[in-house]
Order: sequence, then structure tokens, then C-alpha cells
Amino acid sequence: MKRIILKSREKLYVDECEIPKLKDLSAIVNVKACGICSSDYSRIYREGFNNFPLVLGHEFSGVIAEVDESQKRIKKNDRVVIFPLKPCFKCFNCKRNMYAQCVKYSYFGSREDGGLQEYISVPIWNILPIYDIPFDIAALIEPAAVALHAIKKSAVKDDDKILIFGTGVIGIFLGLILNTMKINNINYMVRNQNKYEFLHSLGFSVLNHTDIDEFDVVFECVGANESIESSINYLGARSKLVLVGNPISDINIKQVIYWKILRSELNIIGVWNSDYPTDWKEIVDIIKNMDYRVLRSMLIQTSDFKDLIDLIDRKYKNEISKLKVMWIND
Ligand SMILES: [Zn+2]
Ligand SMILES: [Zn+2]
Repeated sequence: MKRIILKSREKLYVDECEIPKLKDLSAIVNVKACGICSSDYSRIYREGFNNFPLVLGHEFSGVIAEVDESQKRIKKNDRVVIFPLKPCFKCFNCKRNMYAQCVKYSYFGSREDGGLQEYISVPIWNILPIYDIPFDIAALIEPAAVALHAIKKSAVKDDDKILIFGTGVIGIFLGLILNTMKINNINYMVRNQNKYEFLHSLGFSVLNHTDIDEFDVVFECVGANESIESSINYLGARSKLVLVGNPISDINIKQVIYWKILRSELNIIGVWNSDYPTDWKEIVDIIKNMDYRVLRSMLIQTSDFKDLIDLIDRKYKNEISKLKVMWIND
């Protein structure tokens, strides 16, 4: 079978290897779609990551090619999505079902080989049916689950005024999911005109950083000093800052911003990953009813691994405006 392997920093290659053998309580998944996450660009291009060689990909869906028949939950030919985190099931957090907070986990596409290959061995526990959701849409379930998790942690109310910083896939899903919850006052902060038109076409209101306003909940999905400070400036008293963006460097806060947190008694909520299987089962039901054309408008897809390597490179260089590069195996 074919796969893409990251051999060292910036070095992606297509190569061939054996199809994995079936193990107990596992299935062999024929991968049908795998998205490239912004965190994958960090793994490929930035200093510091050194788990080479590695097959990337933690946002993937597929079909069960072979499965341990000692269980009845999953069967051959089922269409499925994979929760990429493999918990230890033993630590304090795992025992309380907080698997994203496991202290000794493995992770497809980061700590072990992921979805950019034709077949992969996956524990049954990590597999969830997607019914008739198309594979490319199902490969968006992982980032969508993070957005849903952030919304649930924010405990947002119907009449709350919402501001979203960041227009990556998670940021867009925040607005789309809030919409399905009949929350109407959804606003985005944008810098580039491209995104402005896209968000307007989805019916969201769009602000720029010179606008003055206050909000009940601000979702920060960038993870940079500037947008975190700006997020805090847009919060009303006793409102909520939901931190979703994963920073790639230190975050420093000015004294005047820190004062605002104290004086305004802001609630700061951290978000990491999503709860499995609860958030995942819910997001499968939500995505099933979304407009697939809207979701696909975020994607640039290819079925060819060589093209994919080229798309990843061009996306990293900002030559592609679509939000996500995705491999489709057809
Ligand atoms: Zn990701
Ligand atoms: Zn654990």
C-alpha cells in the first residue's frame, strides 16, 4: 500500500509498505479521506518536532476492511471516523473519562503513524460509525468536535453576543454550530477581505479591529498575543473568554490587560481537544444536517499523494486561500 512519510523536517515522501495485520480488539481501516491540520504544518516545517519518520494525519475517515469479530459494535464495510487519541485508560483523568487530558497517551499522526496511508490499524474503541455522511465531510469531524467542545464549555446562552477571533476551520465551525443552536448574534473579527466575503455569504456579521463593541462570549481561535489581548478588550464585565487557539510561542499579557481581567471579573476557559465519545456522537448528528456545499467550500482536495505534497507546500507558503488541504482516496 501507499503512504506519505515525513522523514525529517520538510521532507515528505511517497513510499510503499505492507498492509498492517489485524490485531485483537482492532480493525484495519481503509482510509478514504484525511485532512491536513494546521498543527501538521508545525510538525513538518517548524523546529522542535523530531518524531521521525512519521505518517501524518489525525483527521481521517474510512471503511472497515477487516475487524476483530469478537465484538458486535463495528463490522466489515462500516463507514467510520477515527478519534485520533489513544488513552492509557489508567491515569487519574482517564478514570474520569477525560481522555483528552490523559497524561500518557498516543496519538495518530503525531506520536504514531496516522491517516495519510491507504490502510491503518485502529483500536475498536477509537472507531465511530458515520452512517451516510460522505468521507470528506466525515474527515472534518475532528476539528468540528473541538468547536462543539468549546461551545459546550462556554455554556453560551441564546441571547449572548458572540465574537469569534480566527477564521480557520475550527473558527468557522464555531459559527456554523452556534447557528444550528439558534444563537443569532454571531460576529467574526477578520483582517483579510477574502474571509470577509466568505463569512458574509454564510450570514455572519463581520467586524474589523477598529470597531468598538462589547460581547458576552469571545472565542479566541488564533493563539497569538495580539488577538488574545484584543479578545480581552472586547469583553464586557463578567463575560467569558474561551481560549481555543494553540500558540506557537510564549503569550505575554500587558498589565493593563491583566487589570481588565481583574476589574471586569472575566471568566477564562481553556479548551483542549474534545470529549470522546460524547462530543463526537453529537457532532456526527450535527454535521449530518449541515450544508455539505458550505463545508466543501473550505476544502481543496486531491486523490494523488504527489499532488498532496505539493498542495501542503503551497498552503504553507500561503499560496492557497482554501482553509484545508485534504487527501481523498478514491
Ligand atoms: Zn488537528
Ligand atoms: Zn490516561
